[in-house]
Amino acid sequence: MAAETPLFSQAQTLENDEAVREVREIMALRARGSAPMALVRTYGCQQNVSDSEKIKGFLAQMGFSFTEDEEDADFILFNTCAVREHAEDRVFGNVGALKNVKRRHSSTLIAVCGCMMEEEKAAERIRSVFPFVGLVFGTHVIHRFPQLLLRALTEEKRVFERGDDSEDREIAEGLPVRRDGAVKAWLTVMYGCNNFCSYCIVPYVRGRERSREPQAILEEFRGLVRDGYKDITLLGQNVNSYGKTLRTPVSFARLLRMLDEIDGDYRIRFMTSHPKDLTKELIDTIAAGRHISHHLHLPFQSGNNRVLKEMNRGYTREQYLDLIQYAKEKITDLSLTSDVIVGFPGESYEEFLDTVDLIRRVEFTSLFTFIYSPRTGTRAAGLPDPIPAEEKSKWLRELCAEQEKIAAARCASSVGTVQRVLVEEKNPKTGLLTGRTDGNIIVDFAGDPAFIGSFAEVRITSARNWILGGELA
Ligand code: SAM
Ligand code: SF4
Repeated sequence: MAAETPLFSQAQTLENDEAVREVREIMALRARGSAPMALVRTYGCQQNVSDSEKIKGFLAQMGFSFTEDEEDADFILFNTCAVREHAEDRVFGNVGALKNVKRRHSSTLIAVCGCMMEEEKAAERIRSVFPFVGLVFGTHVIHRFPQLLLRALTEEKRVFERGDDSEDREIAEGLPVRRDGAVKAWLTVMYGCNNFCSYCIVPYVRGRERSREPQAILEEFRGLVRDGYKDITLLGQNVNSYGKTLRTPVSFARLLRMLDEIDGDYRIRFMTSHPKDLTKELIDTIAAGRHISHHLHLPFQSGNNRVLKEMNRGYTREQYLDLIQYAKEKITDLSLTSDVIVGFPGESYEEFLDTVDLIRRVEFTSLFTFIYSPRTGTRAAGLPDPIPAEEKSKWLRELCAEQEKIAAARCASSVGTVQRVLVEEKNPKTGLLTGRTDGNIIVDFAGDPAFIGSFAEVRITSARNWILGGELA
């Protein structure tokens, strides 16, 4: 049965509006400079980047300007990632370094939010080890950020807030967004994840899967196209299961077709696709689309069936390769990227070699490669893991070396073709314009900076590993 997805309540909006007004007044007096300044640092994936853009939207409403310099900031917020231990260690290190900033500027409010703060242990460590952190909140309560900030500024005690189950299901629409760029935009279509891959913390820190109503997505998307955004990425942990929890279920392929019908000069990307839910209907939709990028990010994680089963991924290597074959037949210029985990508990070198074999067969444009990191509370964290870290690092280097060859060969094969490139910026060092192809490959070429923010037809003339060089066609 479809689950309820209530909209952000009117009462919450009013409370937020009131809090925005009060924080604005408080900060106008408390700011060290002429206007309050905020530093928001984001760790981790695009979902976190998108969350930070909402928080910055609220901060802008409260009169904040933004800085990258900790010394200038009246409010410092770290939006954290819990996917790997290394990412968490970095956060703890960087939060620790703020102690001196707080010593120099006692009025600066320091806050930590995001996935890590949904983990009891990590939030507790912030509470006990970093007493200068005044506000801590998790991913489920971002929509109440103005109220939390107001409490942190006015109450005598530190504020710690995590969502409960009811809030977990709530989707807040109509939040302000301050986007980082003017050309590329992130648009979240769904939250959470139900897949419980055995290594992954995400379902625990982001809660169950819930989709936004298509009308809300269409409205936001139209606004982005109107505002001149040219590259819009739909976000979700598993976009292929979009719409299943809606009162009137809608498939992701159907959503894409609705968006693709909107007129304008833009392209649509989406991530992440899960192979177990990727349908042929979706591949056909990409092939037939007017604006849908011919780029598919399809994480396979491992090329070995036993490891895939232990990971609880829900597909076999053969099923993955069948999907790839179908997609390549339907979309001849398809660019494929993927995520891979090396050194899953119990993985042998022979099993790892199946991963190397798979990347040779698929010929990915690029790969995001990770060494397995145990996450407390996940099933894999309890499995025996006899392979030493140095050995896993060696495997990772072997995989990356193979992928570099594949990427270089793929790039070289595009020399002579004409690509539609979205021009993003001028490289100050080389003076060349830089942009990305539909397949998300970087291209440098000489041209008028007036092209920035628009599409240009570029003939590819050279390939340096995974970066292309070209000239205006
Ligand atoms: N939902 C997406 C999916 O299923 O592909 C990606 C979510 S996760 C934020 C991004 C990537 O991090 C995963 O695809 C996986 O390769 C990697 N990852 C997740 N948990 C990990 C862990 N415990 N150790 C190492 N890598 C991990
Ligand atoms: Fe994590 Fe798997 Fe969900 Fe991706 S699909 S977020 S890897 S549990």
